[in-house]
Amino acid sequence: MEATTDTYSPFTGQCACGDIQYTCREAPLAQFNCHCRQCQTASGGAFVTVALVHENALSITKGSVKYYRSQGDTGRWTDRGFCINCGTPMFAKGEVGPGYISIKPGTMHDPSWFAPTIDTWASTAPNWLCQNADLPKADKTPNVLKKR
Ligand SMILES: [Zn+2]
Ligand SMILES: [Zn+2]
Repeated sequence: MEATTDTYSPFTGQCACGDIQYTCREAPLAQFNCHCRQCQTASGGAFVTVALVHENALSITKGSVKYYRSQGDTGRWTDRGFCINCGTPMFAKGEVGPGYISIKPGTMHDPSWFAPTIDTWASTAPNWLCQNADLPKADKTPNVLKKR
């Protein structure tokens, strides 16, 4: 499914308490679910859903995001951004994709248009998770960026 810039951007969002607000001026370049162990831990659930955009398309319009750095299985770092007041996980950026940042779509004011197109790290998803059989499954993280 192709998201067009005209339809979906700019889009806005915030954390649960509203201390952090953002505006993104482009439609996501990739939309996916990541089932790696680090995403499971960071989300506190089964997986993280990602809307990947250029870092310079995202503006924090209120508050300041706290980032926590962790090391993935590949040895490369990921900085995960959250609200220090309410703890809502909001963003992530990593050594693997300089210049890009992922937005957690649950923080969007209107996430109704969002739909993941692939499951990454699908083999480490828990057995009890019912994955969408219509989505392609990948080991690790393939190049998910849309061709421009
Ligand atoms: Zn908050
Ligand atoms: Zn992950």
